[in-house]
Amino acid sequence: MDVDTRLAEDWVRAIAAAVEREHERLTELDSAIGDGDHGSNLRRGFTAVLAVLDGPDAPAPDGGPGALLTRTGTTLISKVGGASGPLYGKAFRAIGAALPPGQPSADAAGFGEALAAGLRAVRDLGRAEHGDKTLVDAWTPALDAYRAAVVAGAGLPEAAAAAAGGAERGARDTEPLLARKGRASYLGPRSVGHRDPGAASTALLFRALAETTAARAAEEHGKPA
Ligand code: ADP
Ligand code: MG
Repeated sequence: MDVDTRLAEDWVRAIAAAVEREHERLTELDSAIGDGDHGSNLRRGFTAVLAVLDGPDAPAPDGGPGALLTRTGTTLISKVGGASGPLYGKAFRAIGAALPPGQPSADAAGFGEALAAGLRAVRDLGRAEHGDKTLVDAWTPALDAYRAAVVAGAGLPEAAAAAAGGAERGARDTEPLLARKGRASYLGPRSVGHRDPGAASTALLFRALAETTAARAAEEHGKPA
């Protein structure tokens, strides 16, 4: 299975649905160690992304998954004021840019390189290291697990499932950490004992990828030969 335009769109829509379902939890996490807006920030961003996808000016399918993901990033940057808007926005723009324009699809390895470009973009902008209690702490183990699965011969759904597990572990592992970047770092030791909201939303993002690719696999499997 490859990531084509439809799969990229299904992924983005699945993230939007997850944010809609979980925005209160994300905001609760951000209330503990931030300013209580992470859920509403992402909700505003992904509502705008859905409006673009459903609107008259939606990215053309022949632009490939790259164009769709780049557009998603641009929309997040323009609509989300908090730190997470530019961070996720740049990440999606970098994922999109790593998939050449017009290329109809990317295989599991190629998409892994694009996810790596997304993480690099987050790190370049936010200057957070692994262990600083940010979304980097979920994205890094997600990518490691994804790559390890691909190296072991896994296809996209298995690699995405491994990534989701990695991101969820990474998000959980932020709980004992002291925040060193972003608003939570202002709390110093009081940030310890709480899960980072951005790491939690990154886990939703990778879980959405796992669900989307599993659904496509089921669809392909169910096809008459
Ligand atoms: P704000 O902090 O501006 O209110 P959000 O609440 O939407 O923005 O997002 C907060 C999340 O952004 C944090 O939980 C953290 O994961 C992430 N974050 C903040 N600063 C950085 C950074 N410098 N690098 C990476 N991620 C960061
Ligand atoms: Mg916030």
